[in-house]
Amino acid sequence: MTKRKTTNTKKNKTVKPTQKEKTLSTAVNAESEDQSVEESPAKTASTENAQKTKAVKEPRKEPLKAEAVEETIPEEPVPEVYTTPRRSVAFIGSECYPFVKTGGLGDVMYALPKALIKQNCDVKVILPCYKCIPQEYQEKMVYKGSFQMDLCADGRSFYVGIMEYVWDGVVYDFIDNEEFFTTGNPYTNLIDDIPKYCYFSKAALAALNYMDWIPDIIHCHDWQAALVPVYLRIKFVDTKLTSAKTILTIHNLRFQGIYNIPTIRYWSGLPDYVFNKDALKTGYEDANMLKGGLTYTNIITTVSNTYAGEIQNSYYGETLDAHLRYHSNKLRGIVNGIDYDIWNSFTDDRLYVNYDITNVLEKKKENKRRLQEELGLAQDDHKFVIGLISRLTDQKGLDLVNSIMTQIMDEHTQVVVLGSGDSRYEDSFRYYEYAYKGNVCSNIMYDETRAHRIYAGADALLVPSQFEPCGLTQLIAMHYGTIPIVRETGGLKDTVEPYNMFSNMGNGFTFDRYDAGLLLDAINRAKSLYFLNRWCWDEMVQRDMDKNLSWDNSAKQYKDLYLDLTR
Ligand code: ADP
Repeated sequence: MTKRKTTNTKKNKTVKPTQKEKTLSTAVNAESEDQSVEESPAKTASTENAQKTKAVKEPRKEPLKAEAVEETIPEEPVPEVYTTPRRSVAFIGSECYPFVKTGGLGDVMYALPKALIKQNCDVKVILPCYKCIPQEYQEKMVYKGSFQMDLCADGRSFYVGIMEYVWDGVVYDFIDNEEFFTTGNPYTNLIDDIPKYCYFSKAALAALNYMDWIPDIIHCHDWQAALVPVYLRIKFVDTKLTSAKTILTIHNLRFQGIYNIPTIRYWSGLPDYVFNKDALKTGYEDANMLKGGLTYTNIITTVSNTYAGEIQNSYYGETLDAHLRYHSNKLRGIVNGIDYDIWNSFTDDRLYVNYDITNVLEKKKENKRRLQEELGLAQDDHKFVIGLISRLTDQKGLDLVNSIMTQIMDEHTQVVVLGSGDSRYEDSFRYYEYAYKGNVCSNIMYDETRAHRIYAGADALLVPSQFEPCGLTQLIAMHYGTIPIVRETGGLKDTVEPYNMFSNMGNGFTFDRYDAGLLLDAINRAKSLYFLNRWCWDEMVQRDMDKNLSWDNSAKQYKDLYLDLTR
């Protein structure tokens, strides 16, 4: 039954942590003392970033220009100061950039542990050792040990291998079992995924026990790791691990791991009593892995405050709203950030041309032209280029986009789509590319490099989601000086302040109800500002680039939560 992976023999390879080069802040150039510019809204928008800007004296006539910058002052290395007690945290989740990523969860699993290290945390990330992890990482993994683990109701046991990789101060432990993790894509279908993630949740805990690494906090992510708190309180009570507190973060409530009770009971090996309506049972005959985790975990978090409120009502609650209301005393919202090492327009080597806040206005034009060239679009600086980078699913509001596409497309507008998913959206975007040759480009694929280039080359990014727990694309867009056009839901509402034409403040264009007409109106408002008042548009571009979207704030909130839980 149980296969041993051949790589297990690769013992004691030296793992060299590849510390990424620390990058200069995008605003470094603006720190030159010689600059004499008025403090613009772009500068006042973020008090933290404002600290970086030296005193400013004379009024300025137009947005920051590269010519104004004469010299850069090298940054002094700042020693890390830990102000809060140390905590150890095990992150357990199903994907993590750069090993395997299908969406925002992968970004968070990579960036949050890194940010937590700066908050004086000791972090281990536990992931499945999928076959699709690029060879370059598989080769660097070190075999740490293996054992047999009982899993199923009939006592069937499985091999658990632990492969370790240390990178940027974070320890990644991969749970190795060829029987469960052979397919190319981490998620296939529920018939395979249910056993896979029952196994993974239990094996992650068993691996911690095996390594005798007892964390203060076990931080689990989404339904794939939701059985961890259940196993911990039922199958690991007699182990040292039982002292750990658990946090379960909901990155997307739509996915819950629901299947019939006999199947989940068999594969999880959990006792009958957890299949009651207050824990795993849902409806008449199904079990819900996420619901069970929500019951047994100490704290539930989700990735924005607005979403934390929304999921407690029936429209967004995906049938768990009553359960979440019942557990609302342990539910918090903490918004995601973005990793400034990966998402840094000044150092991003995937871009055609690098830029920062001081030269974004010219360099963005160049990125736009090169993007148009690469994608076979008409090369024209004056066109308003709208990007859309997304999984092509109902969640992302693509039916709204489809229904107004003909009205969006005028002779001044281009649309660049990057994504894959439901065939009806893939096909409709392919059709629009054909219908608007030279002005619409539909990249039906997953491509990191292309994503970076679209963030840098587009003028605006569309995120009209039906629901959006946090959303990262609008954050990345802002950080790259691309104006988001979003629906006011979940994290989109918490992170994009609507543009106010009277005060000339805000970060993007927003609409509230899920309505195609309102989306069109938001796009038209964006176009009006772009074509009729470019000065204000450019200021918003700089204001967005200056906004603090890093993980620092959020990591601090997670650290406070860890401390609260372990006092
Ligand atoms: P979700 O997690 O719901 O898919 P998010 O906005 O939270 O949405 O995160 C999406 C992440 O995946 C972003 O980093 C985005 O750049 C990336 N992404 C989405 N689709 C693609 C694609 N087709 N190619 C490259 N990156 C993509």
